[in-house]
Amino acid sequence: MTHKESLLRLREGNARFVEDHLDSKLQNSSRRDSLINGQKPYAIILGCADSRVVPELAFDTDLGELFTVRVAGNIANTSSIASLEYAVAHLETKLIVVLGHQSCGAVTAAVSGGDNGNNLNHLLDHITPAIAESSQDASINDVVKKNAELTATDLINKSSIIKNAVETGDVNIIAAYYHLNSGKVEFLN
Ligand SMILES: [Zn+2]
Repeated sequence: MTHKESLLRLREGNARFVEDHLDSKLQNSSRRDSLINGQKPYAIILGCADSRVVPELAFDTDLGELFTVRVAGNIANTSSIASLEYAVAHLETKLIVVLGHQSCGAVTAAVSGGDNGNNLNHLLDHITPAIAESSQDASINDVVKKNAELTATDLINKSSIIKNAVETGDVNIIAAYYHLNSGKVEFLN
């Protein structure tokens, strides 16, 4: 499947989710059996840990269809990038979606600033560039979108595996924004 075909499937799945017409049925024992010997996910999602933003539901996918990495603020750190590299290099997945979402708590915390302790400080540092590149009166959701876009660029800058795959046209990276109220995923580029 090309990255264009993958994107189309994500769009179609999200449309079903938005319209309350989920048709994902392949989550039973026979589907599990069919996946024992390997996986072939058609898209990679770098999403937030937020319980309200579940990629497999938002895109109405079956078991084994999405390679999902979730971390608060959908940031590109060493571990999340390494996970994405695995899917690019070994599973030959062609599409990466960086999925930010409305009212993200991690982005809100980063904008608020202050000392949040070692671990959270480390995570929030990855969101700081998006704040720096947003205007003074930018809303949280504006920063969320900027963060998704910069993270998409970061994946290329911080990973030779991903950079090479993008340069050869094998892989495409798209930033996206999830609306909590409608369930709609807005693709940003
Ligand atoms: Zn979030």
